[in-house]
Amino acid sequence: SDSHFPVPISPHHVDYSFHFPQFFPSPNSDSSSDSDSRKIEFADIGCGFGGLLISLATLFPNTLMIGMELRDKVTEYVKERILALRISNPNQYQNVSVVRTNSMKYIPNYFSKLQLSKMFFLFPDPHFKEKNHRRRVISPFLLDEYAYVIKEGGIIYTITDVEELGEWMKSCLENHPLFEGLTDEELDADPVVKLLKCATEEGQKVERNGGQTFTAVFRRIAMK
Ligand code: SAM
Repeated sequence: SDSHFPVPISPHHVDYSFHFPQFFPSPNSDSSSDSDSRKIEFADIGCGFGGLLISLATLFPNTLMIGMELRDKVTEYVKERILALRISNPNQYQNVSVVRTNSMKYIPNYFSKLQLSKMFFLFPDPHFKEKNHRRRVISPFLLDEYAYVIKEGGIIYTITDVEELGEWMKSCLENHPLFEGLTDEELDADPVVKLLKCATEEGQKVERNGGQTFTAVFRRIAMK
């Protein structure tokens, strides 16, 4: 249950030196560098085994990014994976980290208003039954929260192999006043869109099985 993992009381309490030690030397160290004012910009919600983050880390080496994952063992695996990559590739993968948390409850504890430029929801759990739709990670209520933490021009990426969930995520986004769909040209021009299908472990499984996927990519727009 939630009582087993600590939650920062506000985004100011997120321990950046724990997650990104090379960018944020610990306060007690001798390093004289000015404390970095950089913030986490990408969040992979329900990151699973972390494949997307690992791809993004080298594509955007100066952007801080974090995965949020509910399962303890899976989170530990991603931690180990990142540590191993940091050791075998000096100065790389320093910008990526993971945290065990329930993203449906604690997004506002991690990110402040207009902080994020990208949020990812790749192959989220479908929760088929109508009475369980409230457990879906994209919902009208949660989109309000995501709109709060994503900056104007920031992008939400979603993909699923479950058609009904794909329709649901798309319609929630279409009906939200603070999001608009990207045009086909914009989708083609965005290198991140190409990763959605193939970078994560779930995506690779769907690809191996020749499954169809349903993508919805929306931009956070200004309040009218
Ligand atoms: N995005 C990954 C991928 O594409 O391979 C994982 C997809 S997996 C089907 C869904 C993941 O979301 C699981 O690892 C699950 O533990 C995680 N998850 C479900 N609900 C969550 C929540 N409320 N907060 C954080 N993670 C959650």
